[in-house]
Amino acid sequence: MTQSEKAIRMVGVNKWYGATHVLRDIHLEVAPGEKLVLCGPSGSGKSTLIRCLNRLERHQAGTIVVDGVELTDDVKSIEGVRREVGMVFQQFNLFPHLSVLENCMLAPIHVRKTPKPEARDLALRYLERVRIVEQADKHPGQLSGGQQQRVAIARALCMKPKIMLFDEPTSALDPEMVQEVLDCMVELAREGMTMLAVTHEMGFAKQVADRVVFLDQGQILEIAPPEAFFGAPRHERTKAFLQRIL
Ligand code: ADP
Ligand code: MG
Repeated sequence: MTQSEKAIRMVGVNKWYGATHVLRDIHLEVAPGEKLVLCGPSGSGKSTLIRCLNRLERHQAGTIVVDGVELTDDVKSIEGVRREVGMVFQQFNLFPHLSVLENCMLAPIHVRKTPKPEARDLALRYLERVRIVEQADKHPGQLSGGQQQRVAIARALCMKPKIMLFDEPTSALDPEMVQEVLDCMVELAREGMTMLAVTHEMGFAKQVADRVVFLDQGQILEIAPPEAFFGAPRHERTKAFLQRIL
């Protein structure tokens, strides 16, 4: 595979917040269709890393290429990348004053210029896929956390992204709602979506990840297929981390 065919390519990426060095020389390549799980201690830079991939944060050194487009300060490059990259956050970030259906129609209409009837069909199709279409006319506040997160996934999918980023999508949920969201993510993975997910759900990692990335103090300390990562972690810090969360 040539480099331009990578879904994501990070080369020597560094980021600072003021004097704090939060991403240190990150090298990471993700092939189309590949699923990566990103884990590591709190504050290790997981959110920053994935937020750099759609320019919610700006890196200061190194190169990030997403779907063949290098992320620079050029607004067109940022818009181009954001069109292809869907993101799901810990806090669902739905628009509270819009219905579930309207939440899903908004970006296709305004960003992709999809005609309204088509955007509506698309939204209903994806809401069906996350099994929540019967709630289409409700407002987010009337739904459970798990339902809201499934709407957030459907909303992202309505933009037909090539890559989906998840930042601890189940961390804010009551335990009984975690599985319904993971199930949606597993389905998406099976359909071949390129995924990068920050999660401490190691069952999910074992089930769908091609590789697990362990981030520690802004550095990729270890990266391996799940069998090797969980079965034979190489670094003491990885072992210590796994002992804490497993
Ligand atoms: P993680 O997601 O792994 O918990 P983050 O990427 O959120 O880690 O944070 C990495 C480091 O950057 C932490 O030390 C955090 O305090 C710091 N940080 C995160 N966001 C900001 C910000 N907007 N301004 C300053 N420091 C930040
Ligand atoms: Mg985080």
